[in-house]
Amino acid sequence: GAFQSMGLSFPVLKGITKRGYKQPTPIQRKTIPIALTGKDVVAMARTGSGKTACFVLPILEKLLVPNNKPTPGKNLRALILSPTRELALQTLRFVRELGKFTGLTSAAILGGESIEQQFNVMSGSSPDIVVATPGRFLHICIEMCLKLDNIKIVVFDEADRLFELGFGEQLQEICARLPSSRQTLLFSATLPKMLVEFARAGLSDPTLIRL
Ligand code: AMP
Repeated sequence: GAFQSMGLSFPVLKGITKRGYKQPTPIQRKTIPIALTGKDVVAMARTGSGKTACFVLPILEKLLVPNNKPTPGKNLRALILSPTRELALQTLRFVRELGKFTGLTSAAILGGESIEQQFNVMSGSSPDIVVATPGRFLHICIEMCLKLDNIKIVVFDEADRLFELGFGEQLQEICARLPSSRQTLLFSATLPKMLVEFARAGLSDPTLIRL
């Protein structure tokens, strides 16, 4: 039941130690080992449960695998979709702190910020990990004809809120642009019918995790 016995690599474990986590929380104990096998996951978890590390750590680990080395200019390999700018920025801080020793790069693509700057971030050698709000990410994808075929893992964080805020259509459109070989992790405090249907269509044989 320790982070050390989950099969995480040294640079990832170092980030966990630096952040001051000693023991995994119950949801982390359940979710991380399954996510590390590459399976799709639907996890019912609230803010405060330690849910962010449940997807950040498997992302870092997956992108570290040497034979997943990106081709130049096609770095974007992990996408985290958040309902709000505030949550996205908080998640980006987790990615950077926990990923401090991985050498992986990350950026936020958020509504209400300079599109010019986001074009610059995503052109050339894009970051490995993007944390985004759905509307702006889709907009950037369309405007830049962004290819998402190198994405290995996608996360829908606070998925019930994503739907409550009306991002359903954008999420479908983003999903349609992602390679079907990707891994998908969905986190939500509640599982309304709409979300169950979304998960049924967009995830492949997910493991349901609840506390
Ligand atoms: P979250 O639910 O992801 O928003 O995390 C809630 C708070 O718990 C954050 O301040 C985290 O940094 C902290 N946290 C997450 N995992 C652990 C852990 N294993 N040990 C101690 N604190 C943690």
